[in-house]
Amino acid sequence: MKQLETDVAVIGAGTAGLASAVATAENNVRVAIFEKSSTTGGTGNMAMGPFAVESRLQRIKQVPLTREQAFKIFMDYTHWRVDAQLVSAYINKSADTIDWLEQMGVEFIEPEAYFPGANYTWHVVKPASGRRGPMAAATMMKALTNSAHELGVKIYLQTPVNKILKADGRIVGLIARDKDNEEVEIKAKAVVIASGGFGDNPEMIKKYLGYEWGKDIYSMRIPGMVGDGIQMAWDVGAGREGMNMELTYNMPMMAEITKVFADPSSTAVAMGLNSLNQPSLMVNLLGNRFLNEEIMGNTTFTGNAIARQKGHCAFIIFDDNARKIYEEVGLDHVFCMNPVTRAENLGDLIKQAIEQKNENVFMANSIEDLAHQTGINPDNLHKTVTEYNKACDRGRDDIFHKDARYLRPISQPPIYAARYFPSAYGSLGGIKINEKTEVLTNDFEIIPGLYAAGVDANAIYGDSYVFVLPGNTLGFALNSGRLAGENAADYIETLK
Ligand SMILES: Cc1cc2nc3c(=O)[nH]c(=O)nc-3n(C[C@H](O)[C@H](O)[C@H](O)COP(=O)(O)OP(=O)(O)OC[C@H]3O[C@@H](n4cnc5c(N)ncnc54)[C@H](O)[C@@H]3O)c2cc1C
Repeated sequence: MKQLETDVAVIGAGTAGLASAVATAENNVRVAIFEKSSTTGGTGNMAMGPFAVESRLQRIKQVPLTREQAFKIFMDYTHWRVDAQLVSAYINKSADTIDWLEQMGVEFIEPEAYFPGANYTWHVVKPASGRRGPMAAATMMKALTNSAHELGVKIYLQTPVNKILKADGRIVGLIARDKDNEEVEIKAKAVVIASGGFGDNPEMIKKYLGYEWGKDIYSMRIPGMVGDGIQMAWDVGAGREGMNMELTYNMPMMAEITKVFADPSSTAVAMGLNSLNQPSLMVNLLGNRFLNEEIMGNTTFTGNAIARQKGHCAFIIFDDNARKIYEEVGLDHVFCMNPVTRAENLGDLIKQAIEQKNENVFMANSIEDLAHQTGINPDNLHKTVTEYNKACDRGRDDIFHKDARYLRPISQPPIYAARYFPSAYGSLGGIKINEKTEVLTNDFEIIPGLYAAGVDANAIYGDSYVFVLPGNTLGFALNSGRLAGENAADYIETLK
């Protein structure tokens, strides 16, 4: 077996892994990263920006939110069912992390809110192309990789780790398989696990969360995130905590996100179809409304609501008058991710999707025809549309109190509909850690030399992702990664 030796060994060169390696190397401690895929960046390459509060950029934009307020929002939202010390450590480090990234050459467009009513905490990265949009944060991942190289971090690509080594109660290294398919033993005094969760492992999703992939959920499956880092941690005694999905909603085509984003024409179609999620009328298969459609921008809340409907799906419905308004005047909701204010070719896009046999986009001559095409209960749909149209005439939604600006009647054919399912950006949680990112047993004992960061250890949201403070998963990955790197470096000092 090949042999390697380092002080700190990191599993995964994604967001948390790179942040931790850079932080360790800044403390003049030797560090090596072992990465399964042929490139660095992990899911961070798909993202747009991290959370921070009280950053330099927020001061420039006069964003009034303070750390204290963000902490209170976080803890009220989670009902104090999460590790308050860890939440505080993360929030308090977040502004400094933006400075740290800027010093590496990362530029941010500005702090944004993602959806109406959210806080301006989402620090959207200015991509190298200059064109804002999906995958902007790949530029940040490149800067982190460059910094790691400059600081002498060794990065071993195509080298998946398959075992963590423990002797006499402390962590002593790893076993990996290198790109020549040879087994390598890595002697290390500390290990940081940052392997990106179990979003690409339907068995784990079913076993721990009960969702059947392809039926109850169409979560985005970033290749290689199969939960092996979590399993390796459990195998050396780590406790289990807070497993969940980072819920959102989408059309199933978006589950193949890496393919969609790899092809600019598919990205354009996907982004165009995304403008269908306007706050018009949403119903379930029973033909009933079940949410105030105004909240659709909060994809966590909407994902939660859709997940509990019959058939785990829901339909957004609008008529040809609304289509004209969306094309000619403007969309009701504009999202930072895809900041089009007018969906100029929405009608064409819908026709194109139907011609291409997209099973989740519909165009009907009448409500009856729509019910027939979609399988929605026809009588209830008729009743719901009649009541909804009356609410539009009144200018008042007595059921869910939707803002009158969004009350557009469904009267002028063709009637359009899009079917959405629960989705997720990936998984959350698995490994129990403390505020120093030290891995704990179920009995809260520290496993000396073992740290975990990023989504593998992200159990700080309780039952639902804290999307009211946008940028939270990338933010947690960066900040927990830095904490892991710094604390691992301190631990190495104690061994001298
Ligand atoms: C489309 C999309 C958009 C997003 N946008 C945002 C956003 O704007 N803001 C936000 O806050 N969050 C966003 N997220 C979520 C965010 O990107 C992730 O939560 C974050 O990147 C996770 O970081 P991580 O370090 O835990 O994992 P990753 O960045 O995924 O890194 C894990 C790494 O570990 C490697 N690995 C896995 N197993 C092994 C193994 N056995 N051995 C060695 N290496 C291994 C993987 O190949 C990968 O490189 C988005 C996610 C998606 C899918």
